[in-house]
Amino acid sequence: MTSTFINFMRTGIGYDIHALKKGRKLVLGGVAIPFNKGLAGHSDADALYHALVDALLGAMGEGDIGAHFSDTDPAFKNAGSALFASKTKALLKRKGWSVANVDAVILAELPKMGPYREAMKKNIARDFGIALDRIGIKAKTNEGFGAIGKGDAIACWATALIEKSTKSEARSTKQIRN
Ligand code: MG
Repeated sequence: MTSTFINFMRTGIGYDIHALKKGRKLVLGGVAIPFNKGLAGHSDADALYHALVDALLGAMGEGDIGAHFSDTDPAFKNAGSALFASKTKALLKRKGWSVANVDAVILAELPKMGPYREAMKKNIARDFGIALDRIGIKAKTNEGFGAIGKGDAIACWATALIEKSTKSEARSTKQIRN
């Protein structure tokens, strides 16, 4: 009988897109960004947080953001996406997962995201419970193509890698492989 730690890793991918409309605040990565339009949606429409939540839920095999936070539920109307993040963080903890890293791409023609990147990372670190050096954020324009290129929408992609270590008793390595 040998005692072995088995490390489980899982990946997840998330995507979100929201329309840019006049009269809405632009919130991305939990940062209120000064701009003449904002993202429209039931909650604060933070596409970066939503993509991250979906990547983490996907990695856990826990469905998607709509299953956990229905857009018809009045409890989530104009909700800050920090609430979705903290509930995702709690689910990760309850299931014994820790986050190895997350990485994200923001697709936006305007405004420039560079000045807000560090503030977004700090918010993500706090709300999702992920160390700062495990968070990646990139921003790209869509080179003028499509709705994003025309400045009518902002989209975000995110990936997540989660891990847990389980102490396992096994008679042989063959048994571990099986
Ligand atoms: Mg969304």
